[in-house]
Amino acid sequence: MPRLIPVTLIPGDGVGPEIVEATLAALDALGAPFEWDRQIAGLEGVRAAQDPLPPATLASIRRTRLALKGPLETPSGGGYRSSNVRLREEFKLYANLRPARTLVPGGRFDNVDLIVVRENLEGLYIGHEHYVQIDDDPHAVAIATGINTRAGSRRLLEYAFAHAIATGRKKVTIVHKANIMKALTGIFLETARRLYDDNYKGRIEMDTVIVDACAMKLVLNPQQFDVLVTTNLFGDILSDLVAGLVGGLGMAPGANIGAEAAIFEAVHGSAPDIAGKGLANPVALLLAAAMMLDHVKLTDMASRLRRGIDATLNADQVRTRDLGGQAGTAQFTQALVTRLQG
Ligand code: NAD
Repeated sequence: MPRLIPVTLIPGDGVGPEIVEATLAALDALGAPFEWDRQIAGLEGVRAAQDPLPPATLASIRRTRLALKGPLETPSGGGYRSSNVRLREEFKLYANLRPARTLVPGGRFDNVDLIVVRENLEGLYIGHEHYVQIDDDPHAVAIATGINTRAGSRRLLEYAFAHAIATGRKKVTIVHKANIMKALTGIFLETARRLYDDNYKGRIEMDTVIVDACAMKLVLNPQQFDVLVTTNLFGDILSDLVAGLVGGLGMAPGANIGAEAAIFEAVHGSAPDIAGKGLANPVALLLAAAMMLDHVKLTDMASRLRRGIDATLNADQVRTRDLGGQAGTAQFTQALVTRLQG
């Protein structure tokens, strides 16, 4: 019996528990050696522990350094900060990975297989914002400060290059806006160039693109990209764009990687409109689980899971409604488990 790997499991809100159960069933069918520590957060955390990120949940992640989570709702009112942002800050989750791969051919684009690596802690996301009053208008001027550091850029870029090489990627594209934001995004571009020349030249290709041109190229011909690496705000926008290229949020997994922990999740939210109806597409969280298997070096299991999802969607033609199919969550899960056991 292999040693079990402890993982914090946060079912989350809305469709979270439904897609988490589907994912656990698939991981069981694979024989994945995880030992789950179930914890609460989001609305569920507020209900049961008056805290969207209770101390026991944080303590669990501090111990396991690994988490699989469903979507979390931030209660409106009550002054709660987003649990997702707090998790990023608490565990210094500096890299956000969002792969986009065509899984159902015949959609908008075939043969897309790219990944967006986004800096997750700096840039315009640090929330240093204020208004300046002029005459009787208290909101006459709005000011936001962005901060990118050499060290923060370097840490993210090192991770991106190493991950790209380790996963057999061919090209890293640095996305920036250094023609206008010369300091804020120039530091990221300059750090990338130096790092590449010093450590990665000859091991992988690198090119650079301005973010607006990148958005256009992604929509015209996404197959030209392999690994896109960028700062926080551009990464946020581009990673939703690439999810849209390959079938939408129901198919988009994400990973948040840090020095102190790694947290894997579906990109979508709690989908309150379909929660509790057994309709949610579990593929995004299943793909996040495949990323987690890769992260703990169970790459064969990760490949088996991805092949099983592919076969269920395409050979068996079992698809949930968001993909134009008829299956519910349970029916899709059963078909996938049958594939994984076959
Ligand atoms: P959403 O992603 O929950 O839903 C957008 C649309 O996509 C809805 O029509 C929904 O039914 C559909 N959808 C989402 N996931 C699906 C799935 N697995 N299968 C089929 N259809 C799916 O976005 P929203 O409605 O803007 O947000 C709802 C809540 O989720 C909000 O409270 C938000 O703060 C939270 N949220 C959490 C996360 C996270 O924890 N990572 C991310 C985004 C939003």
